[in-house]
Amino acid sequence: MRSQENSRDNLPDLSGRTALVTGAGRGIGRAAALMLGQCGARVVVTARTQSEIEAVAAEIRQAGGEALAAVADIGEPNAVYALFDQAGVVDILVNNAGIIGPISPVADADPSEWMGGIRINLDGVFLACRLALPGMLERGWGRIVNVSSGAARGHTAAWSAYSAAKAGVEALTTVLGIELAGTGVRANAVRPGVVDTEMQVEIRGAPEQRFGSANLDRFRGYKERGVLRPPEEPARLILWLLSPEADQLNGEVLAIDDPEVSARIGLTPRSR
Ligand code: NAP
Repeated sequence: MRSQENSRDNLPDLSGRTALVTGAGRGIGRAAALMLGQCGARVVVTARTQSEIEAVAAEIRQAGGEALAAVADIGEPNAVYALFDQAGVVDILVNNAGIIGPISPVADADPSEWMGGIRINLDGVFLACRLALPGMLERGWGRIVNVSSGAARGHTAAWSAYSAAKAGVEALTTVLGIELAGTGVRANAVRPGVVDTEMQVEIRGAPEQRFGSANLDRFRGYKERGVLRPPEEPARLILWLLSPEADQLNGEVLAIDDPEVSARIGLTPRSR
């Protein structure tokens, strides 16, 4: 049965649906892909590193689910077209792939690296939506979840490319919410909080002369104090957006650090 609650672990029943998760080789994307598999969806697991996506797909299959591992660089349009050809029908799209770099003040930034960040974190999200939407609209059902960041507010020096891209992802999501009204297709975004993944390892290891000692102390402090969220927490928020309870939401940006949002998915608020 589709779109009902899965009584076992309060996750939605997504059997019969195909979900494509970008950046699913590790971190938040991996956790979301595994949960989607548990919910009965066929999962297209994609990222650039073949060994990681194959391991995730194998884990989904071992748990009795169905999965396809497909290598693609979301920042390369031809690769994204080929990915969607390979995936076939896509009912659920989780735009999760992202990079933090280049970590650099604007005055110092390498223009091609900066534009490369936008290509992955924003253009890739647009193109995946562009390729998924016609089929979703034709079938009258579809769900898009875009993974944003609190950095969309632009409050951290040296993160201009990342912050600009995430602000763009949130604006794109808001526009989609308007365009998709009444179609049965929904697009929402999540801010996952500060999560214990490779991305945080890279942030803590950024060169001090570029990122600044205050920023380094802040992020190293989160790790030392044990306040990073496990990737399963934002994955639960992503899955909640696919449940009937979230059916009325469209064009919204939900921050896991908002106590109302974390309470909705059964998490106790976490302070940093
Ligand atoms: P992560 O552990 O570094 O995982 C990122 C995933 O994205 C990997 O599977 C990576 O695989 C993939 N990826 C990166 N560039 C790609 C590209 N060009 N094409 C396809 N796949 C690509 O990071 P994470 O923390 O789980 O981040 C997931 C999302 O959450 C990102 O959008 C990030 O901005 C967002 N987020 C994270 C945090 C946090 O604290 N961790 C906070 C707020 C928002 P390959 O390198 O193999 O391609």
